[in-house]
Amino acid sequence: MFRTNMKVLVTGGSGLIGQAIRMEVEENPKTDEEWVFVGSKEADLRDAKQTKALFEKHRPTHVIHLAAEMGGMFRISTHTVEFLRNNLLINDNVLYNCYAMDVKKCVTALTSAIFPCDSIFPVDESNVHDGPPHESVSGYSWSKRMVDVQNLAYNKQHGCKFTSVVPINCFGPYDNFNLKDGNVMPALIHKAYLAKKNGEALPVWGTGSSRRQFMYSRDLARLMMWTVKEYDEIDPIILAVGPEDEISIKEATELVAEAMDFQGEIAYDTTKSDGQFRKTCSNEKLRKYLPDFEFTPMKEALKATCDWLSQHYEEAR
Ligand code: GDP
Repeated sequence: MFRTNMKVLVTGGSGLIGQAIRMEVEENPKTDEEWVFVGSKEADLRDAKQTKALFEKHRPTHVIHLAAEMGGMFRISTHTVEFLRNNLLINDNVLYNCYAMDVKKCVTALTSAIFPCDSIFPVDESNVHDGPPHESVSGYSWSKRMVDVQNLAYNKQHGCKFTSVVPINCFGPYDNFNLKDGNVMPALIHKAYLAKKNGEALPVWGTGSSRRQFMYSRDLARLMMWTVKEYDEIDPIILAVGPEDEISIKEATELVAEAMDFQGEIAYDTTKSDGQFRKTCSNEKLRKYLPDFEFTPMKEALKATCDWLSQHYEEAR
């Protein structure tokens, strides 16, 4: 009978990073690995019974836990309770079942919104619990900080190997391109698509002065696959391009316009919030482990994502 050494359950499997991992797996299949991608249609992970049934059905040896209540800054800041409560429920159910089913390794994705807002940037992994997060993202951030607390607790009492990664802003095919609730990069790509199609200005929220690091979902997928196989610490690891690659929202908008071949006007709505000015993350720890990892150049990644949206507009989220 066909046997695999590693059966990886990917929660949030239909989202941006889950789909990027699926593409990586399909391009480089390994006979001793089985990957199962599950989305919210398969189980509501806020529900303990449904989560248990999902784990009993698949019996994974490893878990990449991506499922979360997610969204851009404007949604997070107006749905504090949903972000706090739903993520606490999801994470408690997933980690408990990983423990109960003897999962060898679980890697949970956190967020760069986790860091204290009055930090000296760039922040690193030691800063996660240093002070309160930015008030606009408090519910989301505290729920994600708890994952690190849970991972340490499961390791201390039961020896479980549960860890976490802190990805920076990420974009790519299968992103949430919702104009109101999504993150800045997919929203700008969608807005540039519409502005070009309708011959209108490209509306940007805020002044464009905030700064962010961005990475391509395929790069994050490769790094997450490395994490579940090789990374042996319980403490989180930041998965990010370097601080030197941080750009302003204005620069990001101009790059998106170029990738979409949009030459019209860019209009900044300064009545909208800029959110946190920066969240710069150090990638020194990652570089110690993987000094030669090559990130996809920004222009190439944006072009691929703009092409994907143009070709899949009807089915995109
Ligand atoms: P963050 O990186 O966690 O703060 O969240 P976002 O991905 O939502 O990015 C927020 C930053 O992008 C803020 O500086 C916003 O002012 C700016 N921004 C500009 N246009 C948009 C947009 O259309 N959607 C979103 N979500 N943010 C925008």
